[in-house]
Amino acid sequence: MTDNRPVFRFAPSPNGALHLGHAYSAILNFEMARESGGRFLLRMEDIDTERCSPALERGIVDDLEWLGISWDGEIRRQSEHFAEYRAALDSLEADGLVYRAYLSRSEIRRRVEAHENETGAWPRDPDGAPVYPGGSHETGDDDAPYVLRLDARRAAERVRAPQAWDEEGSGPDGETGVIEAAPERWGDVILARRDTPTSYNLSVVVDDALQGVTHVVRGRDLFHATSVHVVLQELLGLSRPHYFHHDLVVTEDGRKLSKSNRDTSLKALREAGATPRDIRRMIGLDD
Ligand code: GLU
Repeated sequence: MTDNRPVFRFAPSPNGALHLGHAYSAILNFEMARESGGRFLLRMEDIDTERCSPALERGIVDDLEWLGISWDGEIRRQSEHFAEYRAALDSLEADGLVYRAYLSRSEIRRRVEAHENETGAWPRDPDGAPVYPGGSHETGDDDAPYVLRLDARRAAERVRAPQAWDEEGSGPDGETGVIEAAPERWGDVILARRDTPTSYNLSVVVDDALQGVTHVVRGRDLFHATSVHVVLQELLGLSRPHYFHHDLVVTEDGRKLSKSNRDTSLKALREAGATPRDIRRMIGLDD
């Protein structure tokens, strides 16, 4: 018998403490799963093995348990699945869609500045970083450091029809409904590094498909990254979930929360005497 229940997931990176924004995302996922009779999974996006640690993972588990959130099945840790991401990368490589990119950060900066001094603005990606100025023609010595990048032009040729996703929440400019992907805004994204044999963009689409995720509920800061995700899904023949990008919890003075804002970490709030009910109130879920 096939299981047609919806599948939701919360996928934090254990490289810092959870804050109010994570609590909001985790609670939304958990409640949507419960209300729809679906499953709720917990995944640790710990590909950055330098910055992620079992102690930080333990902290996340403690925070979620304290909030009254429970998940189905075992926690999936991306660091235990590098072979699966490698297989996806191999298949993109076999299709000629991946190249070795050798430009260092400072070389990228130098080229972009040179272009801007001579010709005019160089394109930025939706996160504000300059689009990679190199390309698949690059060559380097055998021992030169490199990262693996998606050849966006070839990927676009391969995909042919524009890709779209079903947005059940909304983007930064209120975008909702069927959203046509704009992967060209990102240029040649990184798929793997030497020290981390995958990337967020690659492992998230592989895992969402492998885990049968049907609904991705996450912060609006990842809305534009979805353009890259749907292209990778198409290239890899992976299933495409529905997306729900939710609003971001901001500090009282309107700043985005980050893992460095100690004051809003769930642990600090708990230690200062807040209850799970207080947390719900602080993120606008209860009055
Ligand atoms: N690991 C990502 C983060 O903590 C979330 C990824 C996702 O939900 O797609 O920001």
